[in-house]
Amino acid sequence: MASRPAPTIGPDTEFFWNGLREHKLLIQRCNGCGALRHPPRPMCPKCRSLDWDTIEASGRGTVYSYVMPHEPRFPFLDYPYIVVLVELAEGIRVVSNLCDIDPAGVTVGMDVEVFYQAFDDDLVLHQFRPAR
Ligand SMILES: [Zn+2]
Repeated sequence: MASRPAPTIGPDTEFFWNGLREHKLLIQRCNGCGALRHPPRPMCPKCRSLDWDTIEASGRGTVYSYVMPHEPRFPFLDYPYIVVLVELAEGIRVVSNLCDIDPAGVTVGMDVEVFYQAFDDDLVLHQFRPAR
């Protein structure tokens, strides 16, 4: 197991990080208008409702965009690594890493699927790989 910096967890984001520990990609859904939103936040940007619950995303999506950071180098990351913006099948986008692929083979629009990786300190992160 490797380590990663711990995310800041608050009342509005706790469900998301706890969901990852159960291998669930939970997305906030507004109980006022039904809109999905991510990253988690207290108020719906469409109808301003503070009432929300969550849905479990399918974990399938496509690469919307990606970057390969080179500098500065962090000791907790293996290089090269890919930061990806995935457009989920549910229609919202999440930031993650794209793994199990040669960086030269990444293309916008390619199908990807989520998997879950455990790190030190009880941290589980959502990661993506090419869809099988
Ligand atoms: Zn709403």
